[in-house]
Amino acid sequence: MLCNACPRRCNAERTEINGSGYCGMPLYPVIARAELHFGEEPCISGEKGSGTVFFSGCSLKCVYCQNEIISHGKKGIRVTPNRLAEIFVELEEKGANNINFVNPTHYVWAIKEALKIYKPKIPLVYNSGGYDDPLVIKENIFDVYLMDLKYVSSEKALKYSGASDYFYYAEQSIKAAYKVTGKPSFNENGIMQRGLIIRHLVLPLATKEAIRIIDWVKENAREAYLSIMAQYLPLGRASDYPEINRKITKREYEKVINYALDSGLENVYIQQLSSASDTFIPDFGGQGVLKK
Ligand code: SF4
Repeated sequence: MLCNACPRRCNAERTEINGSGYCGMPLYPVIARAELHFGEEPCISGEKGSGTVFFSGCSLKCVYCQNEIISHGKKGIRVTPNRLAEIFVELEEKGANNINFVNPTHYVWAIKEALKIYKPKIPLVYNSGGYDDPLVIKENIFDVYLMDLKYVSSEKALKYSGASDYFYYAEQSIKAAYKVTGKPSFNENGIMQRGLIIRHLVLPLATKEAIRIIDWVKENAREAYLSIMAQYLPLGRASDYPEINRKITKREYEKVINYALDSGLENVYIQQLSSASDTFIPDFGGQGVLKK
């Protein structure tokens, strides 16, 4: 298949087995972990956990990637759509609140094939870096969208993620997700059934950027949830960029959260600053990927 699945629009030949294009991944998904996960927002993880499928490979190249071993290192196990459908069943049987597709952008074709085999009865969560094709979002395949809004500035997007057009696509895709999901809805346990959560990871020396993003959410997706994240660690190639080669400071974070709290936005999650620890990075040892 000639792939134009993400804004890179490589038109590259990807087969079930062989990867190509900017992401370099095959059509059949490579998965690093498929297990219950408790580290997402409370309305996603809840008490029973989110049925999280961590996909390998990525169409962004964030220099500070917190999951570099799978996104850039491509660690994982390749599975067929049939096995992916079995994983849905297994996660559902474990009591998952949802099926949470982490970094699904380059695997939407395989997810759609798997959903033809088995459609879970729990919500489907599209958990992406925000660098998506809005046409894919408009297909309305998923119930909940958990999307990053990393940058407004094209300079930062190019420097740190290799995508100067990041905001152009993220803005359209997030607006599309807001439109297709409508007002957020929850079940009796407070688990989101339909809706949009916009995540922003605060970077060092980037409080102005975070404030621009809070303003954007206020103007464009007021009823969506905004999740402000403090868990930045200078991982990956961050050491090549002295200005981001540290955690964010308490002062930086307080400036951002105070602005969010004063913004008038009602649906805001605020992560604790103590979350900036590598104990939050899951073990990507292929748990739950192969049939037992
Ligand atoms: S999914 Fe991969 S091959 Fe397809 S357009 Fe995006 S980067 Fe290129």
